[in-house]
Amino acid sequence: MPIKENLLHIKSQLPEPVTLVAVSKTKPVSDLMEAYQAGQRIFGENKIQEMTEKWEQMPKDIQWHMIGHVQSNKVKYMAEYVNLIHGVDSLKLLQEINKQAAKHNRVIDCLLQMYIAEEESKFGLDASELSEILNSAEFKAMQNIKVIGLMGMATFTDNQIQIKKEFQNLKSIFDTSQTPTTNNYQPSTLSMGMSGDYKLAIECGSTMVRIGSSIFGGR
Ligand SMILES: *Cc1c(COP(=O)(O)O)cnc(C)c1O
Repeated sequence: MPIKENLLHIKSQLPEPVTLVAVSKTKPVSDLMEAYQAGQRIFGENKIQEMTEKWEQMPKDIQWHMIGHVQSNKVKYMAEYVNLIHGVDSLKLLQEINKQAAKHNRVIDCLLQMYIAEEESKFGLDASELSEILNSAEFKAMQNIKVIGLMGMATFTDNQIQIKKEFQNLKSIFDTSQTPTTNNYQPSTLSMGMSGDYKLAIECGSTMVRIGSSIFGGR
């Protein structure tokens, strides 16, 4: 299926407030350009080096989202241009992002990744770790990051009831973590939902979906 048709089809199904991140990991720049020409401006990648190579080659009005697990020592390679980092799962990583953002006089938006799945392999925080970070003096002192919400990935399963339960859990953590807001904590974004489960995610309150294979084809 052509990328443009896939993209327009998915967009036609998204309610107005839901933002589409086109997940283009492993795909060549020519594929991304097809989506760009069809109007897409937000792309998600899961490897910093690959994202940086694409950023260098592509139009500069694109917003680049890092959706993968981030190693602290690689933050510097994307600090100049990244628009949103979805997978932040520690205070230490926030501190590194804050430090690298400061070098470029930027404030980098971040989402804190929550662990909602029943899979050992997935990353993320639990509710108490989240509140520990948000309430720490270190976090409150950071001036070059802004946490604009939460991100999570459901278990890889066909069991819709389980996926729904996990999304509802994330939504309830999101709702209960709305206050108090500070300069660097303004939660408005809930990033949940991929090709296989984005409709369910939207029903459960997602405001940002990350869709790859349904746009670009299998990987
Ligand atoms: C690859 C990936 C996606 C997109 O997955 P699809 O099933 O291809 O839509 C979404 N989120 C994250 C974190 C990913 O790594």
